Amino acid sequence: MPRRQFVADLQKAQQDTLPLGICELQQGEDDGQFEFEFIGTPTSGIIEPVKITAIIPDVSDYPTRHEYMVYCSDDAPRTIGAALEDVRGTNRKTVFELLDIVSATLTRSTPDRDGDTQMPDSQLETEDEESDQDVYDDDHEAFEINANQPTLYAAAASRLPKAAGRAFRSRVRTDVLAAKTAGFRVGHLGHLMDGLNAFVTVSVRMSKLGISEEAMQAWQVDPKEYLILIIQYPNGYKTNEELQACDSMRLTPNLAMRLCASKKYKPTLQDAIKAFTVVKKDFKEDFITSDLPGAQEAGTEKSAMRETFISKPLNGFFQESLVPMLRVRSSGGLDWGGAEAWYTEMASKGANDTGIIPDRFYKPEAKNDTLSDIVTADHYAERSTAARSFPLLAMQFALRHFVRCTEFCLVCHRKLNVELEAIKPYVCDQSLCLYQYMTLGFGPSIEHEVLTQPQVVDLLISFCYNSASARKLRDFPDGLALVVPSVDMSQYHAPDPALGYRGHAVPQIKSAKGSHEPQDLPTHEIGFDRERLEMIFFNKPEQCPVRRGSWIVLTTQGFDSSEMHCRVVDVTYYPTINIDEPVVLSSTGVPNTSNVGMGSASAKTRTITPATTPRWTPASFTVYAQDFEQLDKAAKCISICKLLDTLPPVKALQDYLATKQPADLKYWVERISPAALSLLRWIVASNRACIMQVDGDSGGGVRGQERLYGMKDFVQFRFAMGAPDKEQRFITEVRKTTQRLELEYPTIFAFHGSPLRNWHMIIREGLHFKQIDHGRAYGDGVYHAKEASTSGGYSGVNAGLGYGAKGTARTAWANSQLRINSAIALNEIVNAPAEFQSHHPYYVVQHLDWIQTRYLFVQCQPAEGTVRSIEEKKPTNAHPQDPQRTPTGVSNPIVIPASAITSRRAASDGRASTSQSPAKRIKGLGGFDDPIPIENDSTSDVTDAEDLDILFEEDDPELEPVTTDPPSQTLTKRPKGAATDFVPGTLDFTTLPIMPEPAYANSASTRRLMKELAALQKLQNATALSDLGWHLDAEQISNPYQWILELHSFHVIEPLLPLVADMRRQNLHSLVLEIRFNRDFPFTPPYVRVIRPRFLSFAQGAGGHIVQGGAMCMELLTNTGWSSVSSMESVLMQIRLAIASQPPARLDTTGARGDYGTGEAAEGYLRACRTHGWAVPPGFREMAFGMPRAGRT
Ligand SMILES: [Zn+2]
Repeated sequence: MPRRQFVADLQKAQQDTLPLGICELQQGEDDGQFEFEFIGTPTSGIIEPVKITAIIPDVSDYPTRHEYMVYCSDDAPRTIGAALEDVRGTNRKTVFELLDIVSATLTRSTPDRDGDTQMPDSQLETEDEESDQDVYDDDHEAFEINANQPTLYAAAASRLPKAAGRAFRSRVRTDVLAAKTAGFRVGHLGHLMDGLNAFVTVSVRMSKLGISEEAMQAWQVDPKEYLILIIQYPNGYKTNEELQACDSMRLTPNLAMRLCASKKYKPTLQDAIKAFTVVKKDFKEDFITSDLPGAQEAGTEKSAMRETFISKPLNGFFQESLVPMLRVRSSGGLDWGGAEAWYTEMASKGANDTGIIPDRFYKPEAKNDTLSDIVTADHYAERSTAARSFPLLAMQFALRHFVRCTEFCLVCHRKLNVELEAIKPYVCDQSLCLYQYMTLGFGPSIEHEVLTQPQVVDLLISFCYNSASARKLRDFPDGLALVVPSVDMSQYHAPDPALGYRGHAVPQIKSAKGSHEPQDLPTHEIGFDRERLEMIFFNKPEQCPVRRGSWIVLTTQGFDSSEMHCRVVDVTYYPTINIDEPVVLSSTGVPNTSNVGMGSASAKTRTITPATTPRWTPASFTVYAQDFEQLDKAAKCISICKLLDTLPPVKALQDYLATKQPADLKYWVERISPAALSLLRWIVASNRACIMQVDGDSGGGVRGQERLYGMKDFVQFRFAMGAPDKEQRFITEVRKTTQRLELEYPTIFAFHGSPLRNWHMIIREGLHFKQIDHGRAYGDGVYHAKEASTSGGYSGVNAGLGYGAKGTARTAWANSQLRINSAIALNEIVNAPAEFQSHHPYYVVQHLDWIQTRYLFVQCQPAEGTVRSIEEKKPTNAHPQDPQRTPTGVSNPIVIPASAITSRRAASDGRASTSQSPAKRIKGLGGFDDPIPIENDSTSDVTDAEDLDILFEEDDPELEPVTTDPPSQTLTKRPKGAATDFVPGTLDFTTLPIMPEPAYANSASTRRLMKELAALQKLQNATALSDLGWHLDAEQISNPYQWILELHSFHVIEPLLPLVADMRRQNLHSLVLEIRFNRDFPFTPPYVRVIRPRFLSFAQGAGGHIVQGGAMCMELLTNTGWSSVSSMESVLMQIRLAIASQPPARLDTTGARGDYGTGEAAEGYLRACRTHGWAVPPGFREMAFGMPRAGRT
């Protein structure tokens, strides 16, 4: 069994990414032996790989008692041999851990390119240090006399006794704590406290970022996931000041950053290493592809870590620009916006940052109040000291660019200067940015879209086609270097601006072919053998005008004037050349099904012989050689239609991807021209709305339960537009009007129709009313109809004008399977029609924040067998609608499934009974601020002990512990931390003035509280008293809604805290707190008050967030600052830190008035909320005073 474990570990290590500088890991000849090579870092001067062997003499000891012998060949560099002899602390380590230790040791000992050894030199001046003190030693191994088994980290530290001095460790701790206090979870990996290669991870739950659920869907992130910034310090931790002092050459070896997502708050060491492993460098850019799974592989449980949709563009951006921006920010006055603008300008000029910064960069950025505080917080602005936490700054910068990604160009990262709102990020209007966006794969994977949402892809192409055929496109795929067929404008109708889409088009008759202007590319006359797919140049020009891979447009001079688009396969036997099976574009607008399949009979297998006597049909062709950008707008529209006509149906794309390896459309060369493929990518990638299929065409869509009743024969899509904070703004407006007008039904629904040709722009620009071309008879605003049939009138096909050669008007994409006739959206609107611009016969809504798109319906004439017909079924759990204002669908009033309405989703989540009217539910909710409730899982994702450890100061010899040994009955299994004077179990509960036990309960809240208690209990058993700083006696808790808790060991946070001295003077070892939970918990914050001892009030010159009456008053504990996802572990930690914060809490030493009474605390809390403008949680009075809820307040 041990042997098998060893082999398994070895194999696992072989499959995984190896630690820095290690490669070629193999099993050795003997049992328990393995070999690997050390190649060092790119900057280390190692020329030849060094072969290293590791042996476990007795493999039967693995993995609990084994030892390693590690050595290298004799011809290895002397430094390596010597370093290996010093490798210690490897006993009982797994294979991977051993490799990591060897990697760290050797990397350190090998010189970098400057010739220095890689030692952090900044701490060299720190004085003598005991090397055996280490935060990792949670079991105090290092203090025991056990010479045979020095711990890994003690051994590592002994090599660099001066690097990781006390000052250094204290600074690391301060920096990490700053990030933690700011609301993030912080982890570390590697050799952080030893000043060696280490990772610091800063993470936050996606659900805390205030991103709407729609945006999360569009971004393919899960609210439960963590957004993680991993900071790697290859040469040991560097402070903000040290990093700023590095020029760009020195920065790269000292700092690297990656943005990831994961279900865990912290990656494993292997995943962290993987994140920084460059598997390939794409393009000539410095853009990094890591070894992590991509953004679309979210669902796979295999690897917990993955990239986010925006990791690729951001990783390089952070690496390049963050430190220079921090440098300019440190010179004072600039906010992030100013620093970014300045950086962009410097970068575009290629200038250094030495000049004086012009005034315009100092203009502060407008504050966006709808963003959550954690996103807008700015560590630079809040402190005046020079010592700032780099991990915190980096994370705040990362959040800015993650949450607000739609405000920035994905490529050049400039702030986009447009008012348009979009749910997905995109690029600015520089064509180079679009080009890089497409070529670097920053956009969505088109293959993924085709496979998972084929109807959406069909819809997007159809919208584009409609818009282009009506010459209504405004943005074009410029900059993508599209090489397209020539466009003969004389064959097409000119757009008629006066008549618009209702115009009647007069076909222009063109006589003979080829009589058009010579501006076009040359036409080649040839003979064509349709059967053998061969062409012959009778006149044989000197040079063959085409190459293998060229695309041509071929027309025979017979009766059939169809265009054939095809790819040249072989020109070896010029003047005879071979082509692939052509894509035939019928001129009649009837879809051509002959080339729907998986491509032509393979041209490659055909034996090619010069034709002897083929039956040549006279034909001519032109080459795809027109530069798309050279065309005028009308010609671009025509060109787009033509290219789209050559695309196969989406089903064929799907079939190709499902059966071919690699599943990548760019390999379908014989069927899709490069120009058509680029165009398709552009159409998918430039869509900035979130459109999700409700009905799958195979096996039923996952969102089938979101199908709305009453729109028979319409294909339905969930539909969201607007910036990521749009939903939040909408909810705020809903709440405001609901309260102002005392509405029973906060919102109504109505239809918004628009002609098909407009939808391409709508889904890119969002709803606005800047251009409305069907008149504004009822004023400015977005028009909504109460009946689907009314909106339908605005949304139909473009009559008359269309795209199509020689007089045939084609307005729809011929290969569409949906074959859309019309499209209408269903919007949710604030229920205040009287305040609309107009409310009869249409709702004309002038406030965009009052409108939220919910559904998109398209009426189709689907091709046979392509779209599953869906049975109409009333949803079982309907969303309650205002009966006076329920819109009518095709025939009946519509019924919306409750699960489809996001804001309601939060409301119905266990916090209020469904029998209440919607208005009451809204009033009762604090949770509207937090639209995405998360199942509390603090038990499954507890903070690693080592990440907690790092926050606490080592033993301070100057602080005399009052009692040294805890009484024997409290000797639990928990680890011994720093000294504490706190003795658990000494509090006499009968002496406490506490509130009566609450009589209320709610099963969801009770369950959550029991879970919290269990999690805290577990943590308490596993953590040293002093590290925890609180104590909860579970035996004394008879009601889960009322906890008595003690806080202690404040000297661990700050030995010089006045409170520490105060407590010692009064011989107090703990503060006793009462924590009371409302029945709405976790949607309202707990109420926390001090029972004893008494503190000085703020008016008396004290602080610590303890107000008169002993109530704790911090924003976190009010409805304004509370988040339902806060775990009680973090709440307790924040309370403790709040008491220790400035201005400091001081005890009332007069001792005249005993414990705090229950009533005075609640009064103090209410007063403090009023002062700060914080929202008092609903039901607070009932909870704090034990009074019944007064009316509706
Ligand atoms: Zn750009």
